[in-house]
Amino acid sequence: MRPRLLVENADLQSLSTMATPARARYLVNAGTPEDACQALSWASREGLPVQVVGGGSNLIFCDDFPGLVLHMALRGKRWEAVNGDEATLMLAAGESWHQSVLYVAGAGYRGIENLALIPGTAGAAPVQNIGAYGVELSDSFISLLAWDRQAGEPVTLDREDCRFGYRDSLFKHEPERYLILEIRLRLSRHRPFELGYGELAQWFDGRTPDSPLEVAQAVMTVRRRKLPDPEQLPNTGSFFKNPVVTVAQWEELRDQWPDMVAYPTDGGVKLAAGWLIDQCGWKGYRNRTVGVHHRQALVLINHSGGNGKQVLELARRIRDDVLERYGVLLEMEPGVVPSACGLGSPV
Ligand SMILES: Cc1cc2nc3c(=O)[nH]c(=O)nc-3n(C[C@H](O)[C@H](O)[C@H](O)COP(=O)(O)OP(=O)(O)OC[C@H]3O[C@@H](n4cnc5c(N)ncnc54)[C@H](O)[C@@H]3O)c2cc1C
Repeated sequence: MRPRLLVENADLQSLSTMATPARARYLVNAGTPEDACQALSWASREGLPVQVVGGGSNLIFCDDFPGLVLHMALRGKRWEAVNGDEATLMLAAGESWHQSVLYVAGAGYRGIENLALIPGTAGAAPVQNIGAYGVELSDSFISLLAWDRQAGEPVTLDREDCRFGYRDSLFKHEPERYLILEIRLRLSRHRPFELGYGELAQWFDGRTPDSPLEVAQAVMTVRRRKLPDPEQLPNTGSFFKNPVVTVAQWEELRDQWPDMVAYPTDGGVKLAAGWLIDQCGWKGYRNRTVGVHHRQALVLINHSGGNGKQVLELARRIRDDVLERYGVLLEMEPGVVPSACGLGSPV
């Protein structure tokens, strides 16, 4: 049986914050787990490829998709356990992440206030273990409920199962396997605030904030100063991950480029991709359709009606320039749909 709510030849442009034009052979806007699972079973019976989409803030549509796009619109949130100062919150996959942060912080619970204003849905947050200002989703994560497409059954995955890393998780390594239906977070009224990150540290200047909502509001102000709003200037946030190099590599780079911005991290040194791109002269670059943001070199912008191929061509040129100058290969953060479009091998 065909899924409820099936749309044929659907326009995808409004489903991605980069707003590139593309169509899907089929689209389902799933409002319940049953809608979502039924659509997946149907696609599997029909032998169709499936692309799951939340808020589309970490995806670039670069061509028409020949299968089913499953848009996760499941709503709902529930406090499941409130135990003294600790609480467990369930968020359905389609809940807005940012609105959930405000809801939690407004209720006086701490843990995710630094992640305010990150676009997208709660269900996508574990996929790249979203992070900002020294905090990652994994710091508050308990577990999630997913539909295991391989086994054809629901499964609960805890923090360890999800194998979280820097912008990384199990779901990036097995992209076709799990459909995340809901996530569970542990929050606390007394967890210390994380205010060590430069701009937040400056904002509070040694003062203890009155509430998690105050921290969330400070994060929003700081972010708005430097990151373009996708509603005004279509973009997908950071386009490249900050590359991690070995200490030996870093020492060689530092000898040649003493100003290079870098931070120690587990297993090496993390370079600031925005700095590398800026030094190659790309900040503020703009052609007829696409460009690089004038304040943040890590953000690629679709200025006026650019398509996915134009965005990826610009990204490829930036990546190749950085590789040639610094010998460091930048890796894209957003996914590309269909995946075959990609950036291709370096020159
Ligand atoms: C202006 C801007 C600022 C940003 N800032 C940050 C930041 O500070 N830190 C950060 O980490 N990220 C940031 N991002 C990236 C992005 O917001 C996050 O990656 C976010 O979690 C993506 O959520 P989404 O719902 O839009 O996911 P989508 O873009 O729709 O999907 C992303 C991936 O997750 C998969 N997916 C989505 N939902 C599900 C589900 N229910 N089950 C299984 N797989 C699913 C998709 O298939 C895709 O592979 C920013 C983006 C923008 C545009």
